[in-house]
Amino acid sequence: MTVLNLGSINIDIVFAVPHIPAPGETLSSTGREVFLGGKGTNMSVAIARAGGTVRHIGAVGPDGGWTVERLRAAGVDIGFIAELEEVTGQALIAVDADGENTIILYPGANRALRHDAVMAALAEAGPGDRLLLQNETNLQAEAAREAKALGLAVTYAAAPFDADAVKAVLPTLDMLFLNRVEAEQLTQATGQAPADLGVRDVVITLGADGCDWIGPGGVQHFDAVPVEPVDTTGAGDTFTGYTLAALERGLSMPAALELAGRAGALMVTRHGTSDVIPTLDEVRAFAG
Ligand code: ATP
Repeated sequence: MTVLNLGSINIDIVFAVPHIPAPGETLSSTGREVFLGGKGTNMSVAIARAGGTVRHIGAVGPDGGWTVERLRAAGVDIGFIAELEEVTGQALIAVDADGENTIILYPGANRALRHDAVMAALAEAGPGDRLLLQNETNLQAEAAREAKALGLAVTYAAAPFDADAVKAVLPTLDMLFLNRVEAEQLTQATGQAPADLGVRDVVITLGADGCDWIGPGGVQHFDAVPVEPVDTTGAGDTFTGYTLAALERGLSMPAALELAGRAGALMVTRHGTSDVIPTLDEVRAFAG
């Protein structure tokens, strides 16, 4: 079984600044670092590090060769990552001395995916494969409908939240991941509680409070592993990737969520995103 991840690939450029610039202000940065980012990337890397099989469906620009190479090196199947004329998605991130940040996101190639390329990737899917979506590319609804027609399971991580984007894919979903805020936003947007959305499995992540799984048997709560967090970035993406990889390997949903919770907890003890997503061996060895 393979997870087909229709997801973003970003180049994160992080500038250290003494303070967040005010309108009209020009400010010198005291440091610049470049990272591989994007929710899609994070989830693909998490699935691969968790021992799952993942094929990334996406696009980069002429400047994105190194990002694809990093995904390949992480164990991700890169056969359906297109190179387009648009530049690779970029996040310009300013971080001040207190850790406060502002982010400008330019979607670039992530929102220029071609319909025929996405459909060609789905046509290669085998029985038992799963389509994974987030909200940082174009063609999510089209891909979800096609995947459902092909008999694939469809999973959506509703971030960054957009009510219309969720509503467009909702009828196709087998599994939905939301964090606490997204769950509230979705309830407001649909007027329905997560249990009434018609999605078989809904997982609501609750940060240091763990997660709730709303499944066929009702609601089940999983406590988080207690840790001292230093950077919560990427915890949700790691959690989602680990859950799907564990299901792919035949674990039950409770066992998958338990493992994903350990991976999420370990992730928040580390600075950074895709580069520091833990491996399965690290998660197994992590005592919490
Ligand atoms: P992000 O947007 O920062 O990637 P998120 O809001 O999508 O994260 P969270 O609910 O914060 O997702 O975290 C996902 C999972 O990671 C939680 O369900 C939990 O298992 C684990 N986790 C997150 N924060 C902590 C924490 N402080 N302590 C222990 N586990 C945590």
